[in-house]
Amino acid sequence: MAKHFDETKWQEAIQHPDWYLKLSNDYKKLMKKAEKSPKEISEEIKEESYQFFETNLAEDKIKLGDTGPNWDEERKPIDTIVIHHTKNPSGITWQRLSAMHLIRLYASYYASPHYEGEQHIKGTPIYSNHFRNGQMVFYAYHWLVRMDGTTERLLGDNEIGWHAGKWDINCKSVAICFDNDFENSAPPKHVLQVVSNLIKEHYSNVRPENIFGHREINPKTTCPGNLFLNEWKTKIVEEVL
Ligand SMILES: [Zn+2]
Repeated sequence: MAKHFDETKWQEAIQHPDWYLKLSNDYKKLMKKAEKSPKEISEEIKEESYQFFETNLAEDKIKLGDTGPNWDEERKPIDTIVIHHTKNPSGITWQRLSAMHLIRLYASYYASPHYEGEQHIKGTPIYSNHFRNGQMVFYAYHWLVRMDGTTERLLGDNEIGWHAGKWDINCKSVAICFDNDFENSAPPKHVLQVVSNLIKEHYSNVRPENIFGHREINPKTTCPGNLFLNEWKTKIVEEVL
C-alpha cells in the first residue's frame, strides 16, 4: 500500500471517467507536500505516485476515452525543434514517461481546459489520440536520446506532442529529449553529436535559428538545464549547419 496517499481511494477513483477531477485536490496536496519535504522524501512521494499511474495504465485500470478529440488535427509542417531533458536519472522507460505526462499534461489540461471551445472536455475521459501497441500513450516527446548514444522514437512526426507549454509551438515542432538530468551539467559531447545527426537526418529543413531549448519557449521552466543557453546549445546548432 502507498505510504503517502490513500491508495484504496485512488484505486476506486480511477474507475470513473472524471477520475482526474476526483483526485485533483489529493494530488495537489501531495505535490505540495513533496515540495516542502527534504529531497529524499520528495522523490519517494513522486516515485510512488508515478508508479501508481504507471502500474494502473499497464493493467488497463484507468478509465480512459474510447474516442475523443483528434488532438493532432492542427498538426503543421515541422519548422521548429525543442530540446528537453527528463530531469530524471537516465534509463527512464516510455511507460514511466507516459504515466508522468498523463498526470502532468493531460490530466491537468482536462481538469481546466483554457482554450476556447474546449471547456466541454472537462470531466470527460482522457483521450490522447496516440497509441503504441494498441495501448493509449501520453508521452509528449518525439525522440528520447539515451546516454549510450541510441535514440528511441516516441511520437510520430504526424503527432502533436504536448511538450512546449505553447500550443502553436506544439503544432509545428518536434520534441527531442535527453534521457538524463542536466539541470547543472552538460550532456557529453558524443550525445550532443547524436542529436545534431538526428536533426540533420530527419529535420534538415528546420532552420538552425528555430532550434530552441524548452526554457526559451516557456520561461517558467529551466528545462533542459541551466547550462543550455551559455554552454551547449551552440554545440548542437553548429553541428547542424
Ligand atoms: Zn522540457
